[in-house]
Amino acid sequence: MREILHVQGGQCGNQIGSKFWEVICDEHGIDPTGRFNTDGESSDNQLERINVYYNEASGGRYVPRAVLMDLEPGTMDSIRSGPYGQIFRPDNFVFGQSGAGNNWAKGHYTEGAELIDAVLDVVRKEAENCDCLQGFQVCHSLGGGTGSGMGTLLISKIREEYPDRMMMTFSVFPSPKVSDTVVEPYNATLSVHQLVENADECMALDNEALYDICFRTLKLTNPSFGDLNHLISSTMSGVTCCLRFPGQLNSDLRKLAVNLIPFPRLHFFMVGFAPLTSRGSQHYISLTVPELTQQMWDAKNMMCAADPRHGRYLTASAMFRGKMSTKEVDEQMINVQNKNSSYFVEWIPNNVKSSVCDIPPKSLKMSSTFVGNSTSVQEMFRRVSEQFTAMFRRKAFLHWYTGEGMDEMEFTEAESNMNDLVAEYQQYQDATVDDEGEYEDEEGEGEENYET
Ligand code: GDP
Repeated sequence: MREILHVQGGQCGNQIGSKFWEVICDEHGIDPTGRFNTDGESSDNQLERINVYYNEASGGRYVPRAVLMDLEPGTMDSIRSGPYGQIFRPDNFVFGQSGAGNNWAKGHYTEGAELIDAVLDVVRKEAENCDCLQGFQVCHSLGGGTGSGMGTLLISKIREEYPDRMMMTFSVFPSPKVSDTVVEPYNATLSVHQLVENADECMALDNEALYDICFRTLKLTNPSFGDLNHLISSTMSGVTCCLRFPGQLNSDLRKLAVNLIPFPRLHFFMVGFAPLTSRGSQHYISLTVPELTQQMWDAKNMMCAADPRHGRYLTASAMFRGKMSTKEVDEQMINVQNKNSSYFVEWIPNNVKSSVCDIPPKSLKMSSTFVGNSTSVQEMFRRVSEQFTAMFRRKAFLHWYTGEGMDEMEFTEAESNMNDLVAEYQQYQDATVDDEGEYEDEEGEGEENYET
């Protein structure tokens, strides 16, 4: 068995993480006490790969292989008293009392650093219980202090201790539309700096896009975190479907990475979901394969505020769920690529993969999830970078960070690492087949060969 160890940190990370567990428990027939209740026809499929995410405890109970961490107890208290609160292993709740005050430095260097060994002890214990751990998934926001600062501290510690295991993250990017803390661009940029180096694959969940989907497409006038998190949990269920159910494509974290990542730093994915639904409304929607395909590729369905038509796809993967014809799926996918060939880099042939999993999400007959490595993701990084630079130029709010012992230099480095990332996306966006070989040029010469 190839197990995945899940970690959720901070308010956002714990909120989206616990929703993820509710959704997948439901899909695998696991009730809130951890017992399996078969609903008949799909029971073999529900259990075949259950060990990827769950441990089997005595008495036939299934326990999430999940570690929950926070620097304050509030969010975890609500999880514990929530619908699936009793399913988690009580020892796996690790929390402090101090809070991180939306300060990345507190999460990464001071308060978080004090608690990190307690978290690593639990992580180690879970890892030792695994037959053959494939890797980790971390849920967190990048805009706050705990999920962001302490989350990336944990990621770097795990990388140190388990260098050959995969690290996937579900990272929520901040948007002023949803939050009113001004230092979020600082926290996010410092985190991206870490994620570029220490994570293998990052699913970019951008609050700006999630808000727009709720407001424009779902017509929710005042979207709450609950509404945003409903979109996130559907997407997380879709992305992990290929890891949880028997099938061929992207069946583990490494295969997913191999298909999607042509260059190691460019591992930030845009994800999309179809059909988009608001909480409670999904029963009424039923789509055909062409409709799902059309929606899934639509910029409006992307959980990242970037328009794929402003860039090009290096690679992409589509996971369809439900009973449908594989042949029709293949035809529809080919059709999209043929009609939009200029939006796919021609120097990676066959860069779009698709698969079908028989088991639909609950309350939908069919769905599809999209994971794309698009150069247009740079639009999201540019947005954060502009907000960062506006403040950093005047050193605004910097004392909160230097007060925790941070050096200004780390800000400068984080800023330039993110700007480099943007430049790399741009470079591959402009690259054509004729440039072949130029990337090896360490001096960076040959720039004039790129078509612009
Ligand atoms: P932490 O507890 O210190 O990690 O801080 P938070 O997780 O509250 O981080 C703040 C950032 O996360 C802001 O950008 C918020 O908009 C965002 N955020 C907080 N809670 C949620 C949530 O439940 N869902 C989503 N989508 N974003 C959240």
